[in-house]
Amino acid sequence: MLLEKIEGLLKEVSALTAKNAEEVEQLRIKYLSKKGEINALMADFRTVAADQKKAIGVKINELKQVAQNKINGLKEQLEEAEASSDDIDLTRTAYPVALGTRHPLTIVKNQIIDIFSRMGFTLYHGPEVDDDKHVFTMLNFAADHPARDMQDTFFIEQSDPNDVTKNILLRSHTSGDEAHYMETHEPPIRVLCPGRVYRNEAISARAHCFFHQVEGLYVDKNVSFTDLKQVLLTFAREMFGADTKIRLRPSYFPFTEPSAEMDISCNICGGKGCNFCKHTGWVEILGCGMVDPHDLDACGIDSNVYTGYAFGMGVERITNLKYRVSDLRLFSENDTRFLREFESAK
Ligand SMILES: [Zn+2]
Repeated sequence: MLLEKIEGLLKEVSALTAKNAEEVEQLRIKYLSKKGEINALMADFRTVAADQKKAIGVKINELKQVAQNKINGLKEQLEEAEASSDDIDLTRTAYPVALGTRHPLTIVKNQIIDIFSRMGFTLYHGPEVDDDKHVFTMLNFAADHPARDMQDTFFIEQSDPNDVTKNILLRSHTSGDEAHYMETHEPPIRVLCPGRVYRNEAISARAHCFFHQVEGLYVDKNVSFTDLKQVLLTFAREMFGADTKIRLRPSYFPFTEPSAEMDISCNICGGKGCNFCKHTGWVEILGCGMVDPHDLDACGIDSNVYTGYAFGMGVERITNLKYRVSDLRLFSENDTRFLREFESAK
């Protein structure tokens, strides 16, 4: 009786088929699980006469083995079929997707960072949405200071007109990053602050409502204007070529004293004079100066002990000089014909 049952199951198991993994799993549960048909045979097995136990035991083991092999075989078959199935996606584009290139401003920003990193500057990124305190007040722009007019920006929220930390705005320069950094770090400080800045300007070939700056700050004992000049000369030669000359013209910024604008010898005419440099042989590239002692004190650094210099440049300006991009708007129009021109630049 039991033997017949086993033979029947053997036949049944050998002929099993399944269409998918779920069906295979159901077969496994039906035959091989704890409550499956093969385990159920064990109840009958206990009643088998002692002299037959061995033969029937062998038969049950055989059945178990056959069922196991069969179900594993079905599983493998399904997996193989799935792997070799036709997975061509006819909706994919016919041509390889072209690799993008770095944006010219990113290329130039990285070049600037690379040059100053080699001179020991580390990076700091401050907030683009900042408060009046860090962007203006700590940097010597009093509330009625005329220099504020030169840096009209976008104001977000002013919940208390008497509290500069409650006047939230988009930063108009990355100098605010330097205030943040000085507030939270002890000298010696040698830091580079790159980032996007905003101005309330009508968009034209020469002005935009946002652009990019890289500012640098060095604060330590005995930092002098000579150090500043040498660092900037090194930068200009690395960026524009070993023959590049620089000159510093007196200027005014609220947060530096003395302040200067730096020109480099025109890299088109080599200083002889051309349309690009308006026949002067020089082009302006950045502003710089010694950090005003008032700013050091405002940021918790003792100006009797420490001095520092700062410089700031527009990444668009440097890119224009290096790659002759004459219209600022090209940088943000996402015209790939323009962007592809920088494929080989590094
Ligand atoms: Zn020139």
